[in-house]
Amino acid sequence: MNDKDLSGQLVESADGVAMDRLCERIRDSEMQPLDVGDPQPNLWPASQLKLMAEAGVYRWFVPRSVGGWQWSSSEIVEGYIRLSSACLTSTFVLTQQVAALTRICKSPNAELRESLVPGLLSGELSSTVGISHLTTSRQHVKRPALGAVAQADGYQVDGFSPWVTGGCAATHLLLGAQLDDGQQILFVVPSDAKGITIDPGFKLVGLTASQTGAIKCDCVRIKQSDVLAGPCENVLASLSRNSTGGFQTSSLAVGLSKSAIDFIGQQSFTRRDLTVTFESLEQQYDEIESRMKQLAAGVNVCTNEELRAQANSLVLRATQSALVAAKGSGYVEGHPVGRWCQEALFFLVWSCPQAVLDANLCELVGIES
Ligand SMILES: Cc1cc2nc3c(=O)[nH]c(=O)nc-3n(C[C@H](O)[C@H](O)[C@H](O)COP(=O)(O)OP(=O)(O)OC[C@H]3O[C@@H](n4cnc5c(N)ncnc54)[C@H](O)[C@@H]3O)c2cc1C
Repeated sequence: MNDKDLSGQLVESADGVAMDRLCERIRDSEMQPLDVGDPQPNLWPASQLKLMAEAGVYRWFVPRSVGGWQWSSSEIVEGYIRLSSACLTSTFVLTQQVAALTRICKSPNAELRESLVPGLLSGELSSTVGISHLTTSRQHVKRPALGAVAQADGYQVDGFSPWVTGGCAATHLLLGAQLDDGQQILFVVPSDAKGITIDPGFKLVGLTASQTGAIKCDCVRIKQSDVLAGPCENVLASLSRNSTGGFQTSSLAVGLSKSAIDFIGQQSFTRRDLTVTFESLEQQYDEIESRMKQLAAGVNVCTNEELRAQANSLVLRATQSALVAAKGSGYVEGHPVGRWCQEALFFLVWSCPQAVLDANLCELVGIES
């Protein structure tokens, strides 16, 4: 088959030729400037996300009953490793879109499901999440970041969601808010609804093109029909068994590790001094990948948090080893190895529950966890 024949092929398995081709095309794609760039143009992985939508990637995560392909957790882990090794930024954006999509699919709100899911699967609509203020962000602050007050037919929501990835490109936002009695709601709101302000993305240490920023809500009216779940305590647990720090999060760290380990492998062809480093990292990679797939398949080889801590350790060590191999050239802006080192730091702060933070610190300090 020639390139043209494969270009629009659906990716129905994580290890076929269509997946190889998708990863290649994603790796070769440039980030695109966003319309809203001011004062500097903001970049966004529009082409990479379009390629994923055309290949049916959003369908991997969704039950057959609503038009998905219902991949197993192990297949999803493999898919995420492959994609994140090709482009971490677009794959990270994908995880946030999927976090919204899967919760919409699981919601008892059939009307909302039916109106949004077909467009989200085709890429015609796009959603993202702002929920970390219910789990891993601002937990030491008494006043909820986003507060909801019950009204006759719904809620009024005020405050802000501190971290939302890709809000600038989303047609819909899935946000969480807390009522005065501590109960929480999850709701979906069009991103152009009255009272919503989407701040420009932060300039980050890495992954700036993920366009992550805050979203403000000023007297935003949410109808009962826009509520996905709640009011109840711990509303996220009611719609998802994937907790923060889960194996899907780890698979992105493992995917980035793979890029770095492959780089050391290539260098070791002509530099024998790198062989031991490459073989050792490759063995650790194989062990983590195998544990992750077993965990995804329901075999309790370790906890999600233990796996995440191991994946974090691997990605930091692998990317920095690649920098040692690339030497000063890798430290010059534009070299992929320097970028990978910056991107690896992201896993120290993204979706880290307390057990993972503790394990990260023990690893860095050099004490047993
Ligand atoms: C690039 C990026 C993209 C993200 N995308 C999303 C997304 O799309 N959707 C989403 O929902 N979330 C997202 N997140 C959020 C992420 O998962 C975490 O929730 C977030 O990184 C936690 O950091 P924080 O600064 O908000 O933590 P906080 O715990 O709020 O810490 C903030 C500051 O408070 C201080 N502090 C912390 N704990 C205490 C304490 N106990 N006592 C006193 N002071 C304290 C510290 O000085 C700290 O710097 C993203 C994060 C990043 C970095």
